Amino acid sequence: MTDMKKATKKPRGKVRLVPGRCIACGARCQSICPVDGIEMSEAGEPLIDLPKCIGCLKCVKACPGSALEIFYTPEELEILAKLEQTAGRADEDVDEEELRRRELLAGYRGVWVFIEQTGGEPARVSWELIGAGKELATKLDVPLSAVVIGSRVEHLCHEAFAYGADQAYLIDSPEFLHYRTEPYLDALCHLVDRHKPEIVLMGATGLGRDLAGAVATRIKTGLTADCTGLGIDDRRNLMQTRPAFGGNIMATIMCDRFRPQMATVRPQVMPLPERRTMASGPVIRSPFTVAEANIFTKVLEIVHDRNSTGGMDITGAEFIVSGGRGLMAKENFHLLQELADELGGVVAGSRSAVDAGWLPPERQVGQTGRTVRPKIYIACGISGAIQHLVGMQDSDTVIAINRDHEAPIFEVATYGIVGDLFQVVPELTAQLRTLKKLQPSAR
Ligand SMILES: Cc1cc2nc3c(=O)[nH]c(=O)nc-3n(C[C@H](O)[C@H](O)[C@H](O)COP(=O)(O)OP(=O)(O)OC[C@H]3O[C@@H](n4cnc5c(N)ncnc54)[C@H](O)[C@@H]3O)c2cc1C
Repeated sequence: MTDMKKATKKPRGKVRLVPGRCIACGARCQSICPVDGIEMSEAGEPLIDLPKCIGCLKCVKACPGSALEIFYTPEELEILAKLEQTAGRADEDVDEEELRRRELLAGYRGVWVFIEQTGGEPARVSWELIGAGKELATKLDVPLSAVVIGSRVEHLCHEAFAYGADQAYLIDSPEFLHYRTEPYLDALCHLVDRHKPEIVLMGATGLGRDLAGAVATRIKTGLTADCTGLGIDDRRNLMQTRPAFGGNIMATIMCDRFRPQMATVRPQVMPLPERRTMASGPVIRSPFTVAEANIFTKVLEIVHDRNSTGGMDITGAEFIVSGGRGLMAKENFHLLQELADELGGVVAGSRSAVDAGWLPPERQVGQTGRTVRPKIYIACGISGAIQHLVGMQDSDTVIAINRDHEAPIFEVATYGIVGDLFQVVPELTAQLRTLKKLQPSAR
């Protein structure tokens, strides 16, 4: 629920030390601070980190020597005076619960990206999320952290810096060698409890979906799966956009009462950021471990199912020639294959083509299929239903071939060819072959 009226916010001030009052009681103020905003000096006196301080008064109340007080900047004092003149107390109508909520939310800072890996090999979606997370972190003016959990995986922290992470949390221990929900869940919840990020992003992969759901359930926060867009609103909330109601609308979902805000994003939805080899950052190691005896799941053997995708992963293809119901029959897909061969690409299709049995399911592009981001996507005889568009609209170049000039696919097409695909596709293939003969170096 969002506030309906915009009132001037009453400044909460910041905490400072009253000289000569501290009795070095043993860091009570530090231990009660909800934002880790207090360090202790060698003399046992508090050093306040002002940018972190939220003026919650907890340390002031806890101090046995009355050595801490709230102070206001001249601008804040002016606002206070004005508020008093006009309506008295500005937070009169803000109930206790709302104040507690604000306090809770303010205790969470930073954007995290979970770095998914298998046997030390990172999932590309993690770097895509580092790119997206960086934008969010910049808007919020907080650090972007990579979270790496595994066995012998420290190199992934450095890889994360290369893609834009400012720092990395690392849990590196043999029991995390293979992904198992329980220990990864314990490890990630431990880090969240300790460091309190405001946003946690994960890939919408098999692993990411499993872990994100488990973490959100345990820490009792919201999770938006399969986001296609992420942004920040003016109250620091994460705007999580995803298709809803069967893809007929795009819904923007907010989680404004709980932290952290969690979202998964499918591979290929976000662009891969540039890799900067010289980048570096601090690695924050956590000694967290889980005793093997306490983990119920045991990995006995890893069997790679190479047949599950027919050896084909369309998500990484640079050139995709995609066919829909307009192809009319399975036999006609050889036309697309020939064009794909000339481009060095792959054949994919719409759900109609898959449902008709013309293509295997792993070649389906769209909401219930794969999300692709090739350099060139050629849509042949595909109308451009929203469920198809969400899977391919971020391709660098979209070429649409359709005999219906009003087909929605033309709305996302870079180049549109209105015509019969049975004439246009062979013509394109023939033109490419001619071009290659003239210029053998051409792709
Ligand atoms: C929950 C849900 C999830 C879905 N998920 C997906 C998904 O992941 N992916 C997906 O693709 N769909 C998905 N759909 C289905 C989607 O709504 C559309 O029904 C589907 O994409 C249509 O496929 P199509 O464009 O091949 O067929 P059609 O919509 O029938 O379009 C065929 C097109 O071919 C053109 N055409 C016909 N003959 C020729 C010719 N000779 N030359 C040129 N053009 C020609 C026609 O003008 C027409 O535009 C989903 C639907 C739902 C409800």
